[in-house]
Amino acid sequence: MSAVKRNRPKRAKSSDSTYTVMDFVRDYPDDSTCLDYLWRRLYSEDGKTAPCPKCERLRRFHRVKSRPSYSCDTCGHHVHPTAGTIFHKSSTSLHLWFHAVFLMAQTRCGISAKQLERELGVTYKTAWRMFHQIRSMLSPDSDSGLGGTVEMDDTYIGGRRTGQPGRPGRGDPRKAAVFGMAERGADGRSGRIVAKHVPDARAASLMPHVSERVLPASTVYTDEMHSYKRLEGMGYQHDRVRHSEKIYVMGDVHVNNGRGILGACSKADWPASTTVSRQSTCSPISMSTASGTTTGTPRAGCFR
Ligand SMILES: [Zn+2]
Repeated sequence: MSAVKRNRPKRAKSSDSTYTVMDFVRDYPDDSTCLDYLWRRLYSEDGKTAPCPKCERLRRFHRVKSRPSYSCDTCGHHVHPTAGTIFHKSSTSLHLWFHAVFLMAQTRCGISAKQLERELGVTYKTAWRMFHQIRSMLSPDSDSGLGGTVEMDDTYIGGRRTGQPGRPGRGDPRKAAVFGMAERGADGRSGRIVAKHVPDARAASLMPHVSERVLPASTVYTDEMHSYKRLEGMGYQHDRVRHSEKIYVMGDVHVNNGRGILGACSKADWPASTTVSRQSTCSPISMSTASGTTTGTPRAGCFR
């Protein structure tokens, strides 16, 4: 390659990429160009005029130097292009956000929050938040992670055991294991929940789902199962309910929401045959609840 061509790289015709890293670097060299993109995309096609809500007519706007906003030339009304987007009020620069969107939209097999942390040079917590917000934007089937106080519990779906009394329990190989994570709402009952079909209740099967779905530094309540021991090492505040000592509630520490939801799942309104297939290796089910019981139909979708 000659010296001239080397300094002006072009996409090879045989490449199936439609937008390369060189295109990204050229189009979005800094924060200001990213803000300008949002401004044009959301408010002003020509980048100069936009409808002013105060003047109630089309006005010329100019970029405000000290703030990430545009101001009406006539009345001084400010428009923030990031308002209502995932970038709003974030302390992370728009340039890094755009870079993260580029990376996540480019990769065919997906990119992890950990990889985003390395690529962007931000903390894991920041990368995790960005990852989930971008993914919720890219995929209408996913939503942001659980945070605050999260209860975890597991259950086994498959009705009554043949020839034995009672329902299937932990470790029963003939039943489908379901792992539930319930975010506690402001009223102390459950908010959003995520339920996943898992091969078993071992830490190796459960913990990847936890790091995937629960915000770092959240408070997590579980029972005494050995698999949950790893949570502290993963950066969560972890408390256990001592079911073996017949203690089910200690102040705030209980898993009644998670248990109630999973209980409802394992009964009539969530038949194992239709929603939790033992063959499926990737069949998470996510649903939002307004109260402590399941409402609506569980939605199946792949969160990876
Ligand atoms: Zn105005």
